[in-house]
Amino acid sequence: MFRIGQGFDVHKLAEDRDLWICGIKIPHTHGLLGHSDADVAIHALCDALLGALALGDIGKHFPDTDPRYKGIDSKILLSHVMKLIREKGYELCNCDITICAEAPKFRPYIDEMRRTLASVMNVNTDCVSVKATTTEKLGFTGRREGISSLAVCILSKV
Ligand code: MG
Repeated sequence: MFRIGQGFDVHKLAEDRDLWICGIKIPHTHGLLGHSDADVAIHALCDALLGALALGDIGKHFPDTDPRYKGIDSKILLSHVMKLIREKGYELCNCDITICAEAPKFRPYIDEMRRTLASVMNVNTDCVSVKATTTEKLGFTGRREGISSLAVCILSKV
């Protein structure tokens, strides 16, 4: 009846890249490096959704060796993952995302992130939680070398 999924992702910070997190572009000195737009939070969320139904991971569905996915908006990937979930007869109950980054401050963007993800997934905004934390200057996130994200979700059989 219910299926739980978790996801985790990391991307490296670099100059001359836009910072896309949870589907929105956030003003910052650095952005994330990746084959796609490197939206680390959407990637963690996609892995949670796929994991809940044991459908593999984002790398299996959208290989970074495939030129079709170069620079792709990760919202398109999320939309495709939701299509797979619904084809299997499941619906999202809720998801909860944590972004781990020393900077920038995400609080002003949280509501827009939630609305954006909810819109892409075609669910109510109260099904989508987004939180952000620093790692107290510890580790690669603390040194501003990269940003990581965790996500969990529950799906229910329709
Ligand atoms: Mg990724």
